[in-house]
Amino acid sequence: MPPVVNDELNVFESADARFEAAARQLGLEEDVYRYLKYPSKEITVYIPVACDSGRLEVFVGYRVLHSAVRGPGKGGIRYSPNVTLDEVRALAAWMTWKCAVVNIPFGGAKGGVICDPSKLSKGELERITRRYTAELSEWLGPERDIPAPDIGTNAQVMAWVMDTYGMHARAATTAVVTGKPLELGGSQGRKEATGRGLMICCDQALARLQMKREETRVIVQGFGNVGSTAALLMHRAGYKIIGVADIGGALYNENGFDVAKLHEWVYGRRKPLPDFPEGGEKISAQEILFRPCDILVPAATENQITSANAERLDCRILCEGANGPVTWHADPIVEKKGIFVIPDILGNAGGVTVSYFEWVQDRQGFFWREHEVNDRLQHMMENSFRQVVHYADTHHVSNRIAAYMLAIDRVARALKLRGIYA
Ligand code: NAD
Repeated sequence: MPPVVNDELNVFESADARFEAAARQLGLEEDVYRYLKYPSKEITVYIPVACDSGRLEVFVGYRVLHSAVRGPGKGGIRYSPNVTLDEVRALAAWMTWKCAVVNIPFGGAKGGVICDPSKLSKGELERITRRYTAELSEWLGPERDIPAPDIGTNAQVMAWVMDTYGMHARAATTAVVTGKPLELGGSQGRKEATGRGLMICCDQALARLQMKREETRVIVQGFGNVGSTAALLMHRAGYKIIGVADIGGALYNENGFDVAKLHEWVYGRRKPLPDFPEGGEKISAQEILFRPCDILVPAATENQITSANAERLDCRILCEGANGPVTWHADPIVEKKGIFVIPDILGNAGGVTVSYFEWVQDRQGFFWREHEVNDRLQHMMENSFRQVVHYADTHHVSNRIAAYMLAIDRVARALKLRGIYA
């Protein structure tokens, strides 16, 4: 097996290498290429926070605006001890391409704070969030840059972002952030949107490969917002979920899980996923990726599938819920195995699509019913899936490179119309 090369785990390199490959394939003009390769803004903030112990700690936070060519920056805020500027850069660029793949009028951005939310009190989390937002207040805004939740953040954190921004702006600006609680201008269906979008893409892939939901075995790695929702919705729709994992470990059961009961076990009773009493074989959260299945949904974190382990994949469809779960170096191995890939910038775009709906509703002050949100999401995801696959077929490239090409082409056209203010 080839060794993992030095830079393989740097997600920015993965994002950049795919951009390069797609740009080359597109024959992108040199000026446009250079403009789109670099982020538009990168901000580092040092966040002093009075901890519960009475000690003052200084946390480091980032916000990267990759592009505002097609509209305001859009992208989540991640709270994790592993956040790096390169990671935030990659995630910001992916947001630009993702918004362009589903053709919503946003650019791309991302934020992160180096902290471990599991070790912080609610008060400490609130103070970190408020000071981080205050430091960024002139960069954020419904027409500038609109955050959303990501790993380690949730609707409550978004409510604090909205409130802090509003205090500084002296205005109740709900549209500054998405993924908010419903009571504060959140959208119906936003919480489930990323998981629902993944299922819509899987349905499309099944139709293309002439497979049936009832005969389709699914493994989902990650049981957070994205993974648990995808597993639950797919279980309800008739898919057979035979493997689940979170950071504590994985369960494998070839007869399938009752995901509703598992969800209640983890989120209702707050018990560890691997202790689920109706579960099957306990294995590691990494090993679950290589069990035989029809659809593998990595929905945890990046760099799970690398050049060192991609050969061991045993699935027909790889539907990426996480951002960057497959490294650039693993792409050719996955492709050679004939796996049908639904790339992250398409597969997990349901979240940002409903974030767009939330922003539209906030700005109109008029809110849609859940079925309206879901119907519009279905329509946009199906359309985007078809466009990416059609592009791949007609240009003889992988689905991933097709998604990048489609996205880069849309951003490049917008840029050329605006002109470069150089
Ligand atoms: P989350 O924090 O709610 O859940 C993450 C889950 O992954 C948890 O169950 C955690 O235990 C598990 N996990 C973490 N590391 C793991 C490991 N090494 N092995 C197995 N499981 C592990 O986060 P989320 O919002 O569900 O996001 C998951 C991924 O999806 C991230 O890559 C995120 O950027 C991406 N994403 C999220 C959204 C969204 O709407 N929340 C939208 C698009 C993409």
